[in-house]
Amino acid sequence: MDFKLTTEEESFRQEVRQFVKENWDPKGFDAHTLNVRAYDFDNAESRAHDDVFIKKLVDKGWYTMSWPKEYGGQDAPVGIQMVYGQELSYAGAPGGSPGSNITGALMFHGTDEMKDYFLPRMARNEIDWAQGFSEPNAGTDLASLQTRAVEDGDDFVVTGQKIWSSASHFANWYHVLVRTDPEAPKHRGITYLAMQIKDDDGNQTEGVTLRPLYDFLGRRRWNEVFMDEVRVPKNLMIGEVNRGWYAAMTTLNFERTGGAAASAGSLGVLDRFVAEMRRTKFAGVSPLKDPLVRHKLADLRITLETDRMLAYRVAWMQAKGDVPQAEGAISGYRSQLTAKFHFWPTLAKIIGDYSALLKGESRAPANGIYGTNNALAMTIGFGGGGGILLGPNIIAQRGLGLPR
Ligand SMILES: Cc1cc2nc3c(=O)[nH]c(=O)nc-3n(C[C@H](O)[C@H](O)[C@H](O)COP(=O)(O)OP(=O)(O)OC[C@H]3O[C@@H](n4cnc5c(N)ncnc54)[C@H](O)[C@@H]3O)c2cc1C
Repeated sequence: MDFKLTTEEESFRQEVRQFVKENWDPKGFDAHTLNVRAYDFDNAESRAHDDVFIKKLVDKGWYTMSWPKEYGGQDAPVGIQMVYGQELSYAGAPGGSPGSNITGALMFHGTDEMKDYFLPRMARNEIDWAQGFSEPNAGTDLASLQTRAVEDGDDFVVTGQKIWSSASHFANWYHVLVRTDPEAPKHRGITYLAMQIKDDDGNQTEGVTLRPLYDFLGRRRWNEVFMDEVRVPKNLMIGEVNRGWYAAMTTLNFERTGGAAASAGSLGVLDRFVAEMRRTKFAGVSPLKDPLVRHKLADLRITLETDRMLAYRVAWMQAKGDVPQAEGAISGYRSQLTAKFHFWPTLAKIIGDYSALLKGESRAPANGIYGTNNALAMTIGFGGGGGILLGPNIIAQRGLGLPR
């Protein structure tokens, strides 16, 4: 494959870079260095600040560039999408397309009525989706979920409990997996629903109760979501009754892509880290004077570049119309390993004891974003529908054809 960008891609990269430079200033918020794990992820002010920038992407016509033309997008070639995603990510700016991974499921499995309602609103960033898949006894083994839905006239009546629903206290809509046939084999009795959990005035839907879940730094990251006989009209079903599992897999496959943007995001953090360390002195000396530190940073950069090349291969295959299942898993798994075991721990080690300081503490380098806390959340909630340890399973089964 050819790793070089085309002339068109290169000139588009310059255009995006200039646009981001003129329009994005993080204003001290750290909301995108680590996707849902970043420090200000649950900060309402930071979210409002993001919305201002996203509105500019909408006005520019870029926000839905990856969408098919029939849904108001531009069908942008994979290379152009990749360049765009990388530039935003490198700068630590908010995601450049309607963020929810439900987009693909709606396009492939939604009814025309649903597409007409949701897609234009999502294109204008007016819908805040939360994802209701995990339950207390259904995480990696998602198909064990027990939240029940019973048909009653034109509605489903939903009762049960979800857990780890990220930022669902900001959401007005919830995409949720429910069990509609308890007798069927577990993958075949599941239905996928869109549920309105908040009205336009901000009132929670009747029967929906959110209980906050805080992370170890006290940030309200998730909620437990309790549903007590919540009525969901049947025309909000995504796909067919009892076949929700297959529609939901479209959602999870969307979660497992985007590797090139992720490594560009880490490269951006690394470049800003080096600039910061140039100005920083520990005991009167910049850490960059230490040859061992310089060696570690060079090693890290090579690793990130390798990750980026693997992600390019995935994009290149997609551009040819191939489905890069094993290649996507290899690229995703590598970048998870890099982030958790290499990238954040290396930065934390270089700043030593300062890595224990949090945002808001005056001596925390770069206001605390390089702290040890960053590596911790990565083991479990990574990359959609399962933890870091699932990568080798997917590679073994879909890449090497090994038995389950
Ligand atoms: C930051 C974050 C945000 C999240 N946001 C959401 C959200 O918005 N909506 C939502 O529905 N869920 C969300 N989750 C939940 C996430 O999807 C689950 O945590 C994940 O599916 C793992 O489930 P679990 O926590 O029950 O762990 P378990 O399934 O109990 O897994 C525990 C450990 O065992 C390993 N393991 C389990 N099964 C296997 C296997 N077969 N082979 C090898 N290893 C295995 C896992 O890799 C993991 O290390 C989020 C989680 C995090 C951390």
